[in-house]
Amino acid sequence: MSATRRLARLELGDRVAFAELEGGVAHLLGGAPWRGGARTGETVRMPEGSLGGRRAEGVRLLAPVTPSKILCVGRNYRKHAEELQNPLPVEPLLFFKPPSAIIGPGDDVELPPASVSSRVEHEVELGVVIGQRVRRASLEEAARSVLGLTLVADITARDLQKKDGQWTRAKGMDGFCPVGPVIVTGLEPAPLTIVGRVNGVERQRGSTSDMIFPVAEVIAYISQVMTLEPGDLIATGTPEGVGPLVPGDTLEIEIEQIGRLAVGVVAPRYG
Ligand code: ZN
Repeated sequence: MSATRRLARLELGDRVAFAELEGGVAHLLGGAPWRGGARTGETVRMPEGSLGGRRAEGVRLLAPVTPSKILCVGRNYRKHAEELQNPLPVEPLLFFKPPSAIIGPGDDVELPPASVSSRVEHEVELGVVIGQRVRRASLEEAARSVLGLTLVADITARDLQKKDGQWTRAKGMDGFCPVGPVIVTGLEPAPLTIVGRVNGVERQRGSTSDMIFPVAEVIAYISQVMTLEPGDLIATGTPEGVGPLVPGDTLEIEIEQIGRLAVGVVAPRYG
């Protein structure tokens, strides 16, 4: 893989731009990195605290992806399948999240009204961003199609997942897909340590080397049935330790060499 780059999407006053972060400086790109966006020459200093998603001096980090679709892999870590008393999958178990579920660093996960769901849980996951179109790919082509890695939370209404035949509601609500803060290129997807914390207390810890279906296999498998487009996002499954989220919580995901993503959790807003 190529040298490591840290790619972000920034809100700068009334415009939005992709950028490559280097030290404390953002080098703006002329387009999305998965469309070959090159440096324009314009730079912006990244203020202290802006990596957490806070708006600082007119700069705010947004979710670094704008995918046409989000594919997720269920039960891709043995101990997580076991903790929910599910059998181990013999093929990757796929489901979608809609792009409308995406939120960015420092945003809040809004819980649904209790009449819809009373059990919303965190699943912390390695996110894979596709860099080139793949269709019916070999494992080698699949591995080459990766632009970079990011952090994803697969927020899940566990009661609806059990009740509904399809997981559309359970996995697809607004805000149920925090992503960011950056895409890191040039890293092997395994082995990387992945940690999930709620209010600073560790709940999940695993290694991406424990995936039942590694990243290239997942991409190749998906690409047999649908074309993956540049910018598409894959959430690769969660290690054990999933648990409930309540208003006031802060959820953090950390993966070594990629970074740390934090989002809040708030009660439903009405109206
Ligand atoms: Zn998941």
